Amino acid sequence: MDHCHTSNLISLEQALKKLLNLTATSPITTETINLTESAGRITATEIISPINVPAFDNSAMDGYAIRLADLNGNPILPMAGKALAGMPFQGEWPAGSCIRIMTGAPIPAGTDAVVMQEQTEVTETGIRFTYPVKPGQNIRTIGEDISQNTVVLPKGIRLSTAQLPLIASLGIATVDVVRKLKVALFSTGDELQAIGEPLQAGQIYDTNRFAIRLMLEKLGCEIVDLGVIRDDPDALRQAFIEADKHADLVISSGGVSVGEADYTKQILDEVGKISFWKLAIKPGKPFAFGQLEHAWFCGLPGNPVSAVLTFYQLVQPLIAHLSGFTAWQPPMRLKARTTTPLKKSPGRLDFQRGMASLNEQGELEVQTTGHQGSHIFSSYSQGNCFIVLERERGHVAAGETVQIEFFNPLLKNQ
Ligand code: AMP
Ligand code: MG
Repeated sequence: MDHCHTSNLISLEQALKKLLNLTATSPITTETINLTESAGRITATEIISPINVPAFDNSAMDGYAIRLADLNGNPILPMAGKALAGMPFQGEWPAGSCIRIMTGAPIPAGTDAVVMQEQTEVTETGIRFTYPVKPGQNIRTIGEDISQNTVVLPKGIRLSTAQLPLIASLGIATVDVVRKLKVALFSTGDELQAIGEPLQAGQIYDTNRFAIRLMLEKLGCEIVDLGVIRDDPDALRQAFIEADKHADLVISSGGVSVGEADYTKQILDEVGKISFWKLAIKPGKPFAFGQLEHAWFCGLPGNPVSAVLTFYQLVQPLIAHLSGFTAWQPPMRLKARTTTPLKKSPGRLDFQRGMASLNEQGELEVQTTGHQGSHIFSSYSQGNCFIVLERERGHVAAGETVQIEFFNPLLKNQ
């Protein structure tokens, strides 16, 4: 595309800024749920530890609890009793003796150190200690990991295996999380056929609704699927009104370009307050955003590659924002050397699909997946990253440095 035709397009950064500014005051509602059901949910409050971890001084080793004063003169100490995990030593601990202790067992009162059994000798009259002993050795102290009433996790993170066992270890049975975002979804187009039905002349399968559903599921949204809406202004108006009743966010695909059956923009102007943007990105130029009576609205382009890309680059951060997921990070951009030439016209930020790997020197290299048309969905399955080419850049020769973004699990599990 010629540069002079692209100067009126808005940049991805501008579009993102607008999206996030417009929705800045959107309220976030919360609920309290069982910890066992909270995987994938966003924390609505800080998680504060009600206890010390460890909750008591305990042994880090299988061995013997000793008092340093008893070790003078390298004696043999008889065993005065045992302390096991879950079964503390009870009773008197006579001077000049030691206590058998196992990992995790509470430290008997008066203990100066635990000596691991590998550093001892068992004799007929008791235990001989064969190594120098340091005060406090092998004792895990109360609150050493987490002290009571401290913040262990911030609000605004997504709960997963890295955090849930930690919360469980504190004995916390319920957590406050953000209510799932309700997202209503439909595709537009007279040509769309349901997956599993035979194609009639001129029909194609409805890829977008399926793709968007998958991504919404991964983002932990509650989905209201309104199916395919025909290219008919009344049907479209009805769909928007219906979707708005049931959702916090409405997403449609198709009908946002300038074709004869592209009614989305026209209807939206009637039933909502719409900003229609032509984005300086490729693929995915047309994108509509706005507000219906209750819900926010995103209109994605019809081409599946573009629909997925605009969802990934714009709707993903928007959903994170509306879901109180403040810890969400945009995909990291890394530098890589392209081993293949890349076709590019100046004017739009290009998200080509590529396959990145490390070469023998441990450096990051990338190659194109081939044809980059916005109808070539296989470029996603063949690739593992976007090659992000700056707006003003032209053709790229093999050997040049480019930026890449590895696909996150919304697109592909590595
Ligand atoms: P539109 O934006 O409605 O003009 O659509 C642009 C292109 O994307 C056309 O080739 C459509 O047939 C195609 N398309 C629109 N919606 C879908 C969909 N849900 N699944 C697959 N292709 C679609
Ligand atoms: Mg259409």
